[in-house]
Amino acid sequence: MSSKTSNIVREKEIQEALEQAPRPDATQVAEILARAREMHGLAPADVATLCCVEDPDQLRELYRTARKVKEEIYGRRLVMFTPLYVSNLCANDCAYCSFRSSNRSLVRRALTQDEIARETRTLTAEGHKRVLLVAGEAYPREGFDYILDAIDTVYAAGRGSDEIRRINVNVAPLEVEQFAQLRAAGIGTYQIFQETYDRKVYSTVHLRGRKSDYDWRIEAMDRAFQGGIEDVGVGVLFGLADWRFELLALQQHILHLEDRFGVGPHTISVPRLEPADGAQLASDPPFPVDGESFRKIVAILRLMVPYTGIIMSTRETAEIRRTTFALGVSQISAGSRTNPGGYSDDSSGTGAQFSLGDHRALDEVVRDVAQLGYVPSFCTGCYRLGRVGADFMDLARPGDIKHHCDPNGLSSFLEYLRDYASEETREIGRKCIHSVLEEMSPEPRRRAQKMLEKVGRGESDVFC
Ligand code: SAM
Ligand code: SF4
Repeated sequence: MSSKTSNIVREKEIQEALEQAPRPDATQVAEILARAREMHGLAPADVATLCCVEDPDQLRELYRTARKVKEEIYGRRLVMFTPLYVSNLCANDCAYCSFRSSNRSLVRRALTQDEIARETRTLTAEGHKRVLLVAGEAYPREGFDYILDAIDTVYAAGRGSDEIRRINVNVAPLEVEQFAQLRAAGIGTYQIFQETYDRKVYSTVHLRGRKSDYDWRIEAMDRAFQGGIEDVGVGVLFGLADWRFELLALQQHILHLEDRFGVGPHTISVPRLEPADGAQLASDPPFPVDGESFRKIVAILRLMVPYTGIIMSTRETAEIRRTTFALGVSQISAGSRTNPGGYSDDSSGTGAQFSLGDHRALDEVVRDVAQLGYVPSFCTGCYRLGRVGADFMDLARPGDIKHHCDPNGLSSFLEYLRDYASEETREIGRKCIHSVLEEMSPEPRRRAQKMLEKVGRGESDVFC
């Protein structure tokens, strides 16, 4: 167990900020949003005030500002990925998750390395280039080496340009030395969610196992940076505690990382509790987050940390996904399964972690995203060119990252259309590329066109 009580999150301060936050008037909100448009983030008091906005006109302004900031920084691209569940073995007992150790009816399975290779090839054949490797908190006989072997297997399973080019990882918190091993294995982002920053709630929903130690978990990102990981991803499982509290606590966590390591998280995930077999709590969340509150969460996060990616998964329905892209989401999963082996063995959903809201295949999601005017991006350029951690943020802050991301998004999208898309998606995608090019200013357009010509001539993996 962690030997000390961390003060990364100071609950009393947050409670006071929320109690003192006024139900704001239009002038106050306008002043905060004017500051947010400068894209330097928001002070905690401003976040607390925005959390209290209920008035429809003020909400509209909040969404309009979030949309503007999102477009300014991320343009029209939306990064695509899919989770790869390798194992549902777990020694913990999280009240919301099907993988909890007390769920005796779950079919337990840790994929063999051959099975992981097979899963990977199913995904690459559909056009995926990025996966999030996920596992429960217990490993088969090999111990943590199982995860390291799985990473090697996924990278090695590629055939030509049918390959996974970036593996992000969502596995239980590790020791510093294990993080160093993860880094050496060539991962992109290490991701873990605190689930809830409220200590009391945390202890009531994490009943057994290492995860019941709040401090061990919240300090995981510090250990990850100490172990040399450059990009970390944080998140909250919304529905466990008051979302307003969670946003302010998340901000304290981020400020702590920025203070100590000079860089905050690369991504924030915003999962909402979904029904899960064998986990009653999930069907009856203590603090349900409705659609409007969810949009507010995304919009406030976009303004609070403008340069941090926001990830939305297929837990959400297609409809919710469509209405939140514009507010700040920058990465989405598509075509997901949450049961180990679920991609190559379609025979059953047994062993799944929770219910999904969006069951569409990658091709259909890509088509929908393109039809909405966004560019589905399969780019992995930054990570492979070493633009990670503080280097990435240094480029992102003055807005320079766009000069790489816009053309890279388009060239990786064209590669997808050329190699994997259905006729219908190809046609819609080409139109989307055309209209995005038309909106670009001359220099980036010239650069993007050159790269698109290379893809048109048959080259793959074209990025700058
Ligand atoms: N076992 C590791 C852990 O708990 O951190 C990593 C993988 S766990 C499968 C990934 C995430 O799934 C958890 O962090 C949790 O937020 C999310 N999750 C679990 N049950 C869920 C549910 N019923 N609805 C939505 N998300 C859920
Ligand atoms: Fe295990 Fe993670 Fe599920 Fe908790 S959330 S039961 S640690 S897999």
